[in-house]
Amino acid sequence: MSEKIEFSKTGEQTKAVHAGEFPDPVTRASSPNLVMSTTFVTDADSGFSAENMKEGDSWMYTRWGNPTIHQLEEKLAVLEEAEMGVAFDSGMGAISALLFHLLKSGDHAVVTDVAYAAMSELTNEMIPGLGIGITKVDTSDLNAIKNAIQPNTRLVYIETPCNPLLRLTDIAAVAEITHKAGAKLVVDSTFATPVATKPLTLGADLVIHSLTKYLGGHGDALGGVVLGKKDDLLSLRKKTAIRLGGILSPFNAWLILRGLATFPIRMRAHQENALKIATYLEKHPKVKRVIYPGLPSHPQYELARRQMKNFSGMITFQVENGREMAQRFAEELQIIHYAVSLGHHRSLIFYMDSKNLHETSFHLSTPAQLDSWNRFAGEGIFRFSVGLEDADDLIADLEQALKE
Ligand SMILES: *Cc1c(COP(=O)(O)O)cnc(C)c1O
Repeated sequence: MSEKIEFSKTGEQTKAVHAGEFPDPVTRASSPNLVMSTTFVTDADSGFSAENMKEGDSWMYTRWGNPTIHQLEEKLAVLEEAEMGVAFDSGMGAISALLFHLLKSGDHAVVTDVAYAAMSELTNEMIPGLGIGITKVDTSDLNAIKNAIQPNTRLVYIETPCNPLLRLTDIAAVAEITHKAGAKLVVDSTFATPVATKPLTLGADLVIHSLTKYLGGHGDALGGVVLGKKDDLLSLRKKTAIRLGGILSPFNAWLILRGLATFPIRMRAHQENALKIATYLEKHPKVKRVIYPGLPSHPQYELARRQMKNFSGMITFQVENGREMAQRFAEELQIIHYAVSLGHHRSLIFYMDSKNLHETSFHLSTPAQLDSWNRFAGEGIFRFSVGLEDADDLIADLEQALKE
């Protein structure tokens, strides 16, 4: 059964269905079991500290590892072509554990100036407060990264496409710069997903996903994962994840496993819908600008085609008087939910006001950084996570809400 499938030779959809799963040896149940037990009966010679933990040991305690969470980690590793993955209670759980693991006082990191808001805020205050230097740059600008590197730079952290701008970063080019500096490249690939881009094959050292988004795909379970080389991940689990304790619930692991079975099929449908809707919006008289990596009008369309095998389901667009339109959308949209988050089967839209975001999350300091922001977002954007409803119904919903 799944131990005998050579996943390096199968397609993505076979990986999504079978990787990490196998019939239960006792009951022969074909679908994965949910193991909620926090503790496991062990042998008398087991050590009490996770320091004693060795590969191949039987299960001890769910914070150290759990059969259901393990099945999810295996499936994700196969999908990402990683040696190993460690799951966390949320995307931010994964990001914060990884930063605490890789950085110590006196170190320096180069971080994307526009990223998931909580990640930006964590690196604006808390991480620098620990005596770790952070330089924020527009990572689509390779020279900006080169100029920001210091002798103590341990880490370069990028997001592509970045949330919320959908601005891309060239992973292979940044990997080269990062490795020349003796640092590690971390890529938050939540918006792309492994169907579109496999950062590890382009030279990245570690990949992060919020499982809450496309991978879980149904808006009912928070989760996160870090994927990469076995040495890095074994050490992340033992030294940091177990001690910080942001471990995924087995129930959420089971829900996300179930969501993953249809993940490549869902991504094809997200892309198909997003392309139709982006094309519709681009022609709409009330829409000033649409950004979608699958449209030739995206400022980095050439890089998108080179780096992304699927353009995903995220669109941003600008209108006149975005705040007023946000009010209309919140009241008038029937199918599309006016809500944060993304990557669910259900369509979600949210207005992001540039001035507000610059106060709370993104402290852009140079004219070049502000220029880049304005080119992608102007005064504000609607971030639209196109779901799996029929595209014609979504277009009709937008049409009635955009009308006076
Ligand atoms: C949502 C998101 C996160 C955080 O994930 P949570 O599961 O909400 O903690 C991190 N990065 C990106 C790009 C995201 O969209």
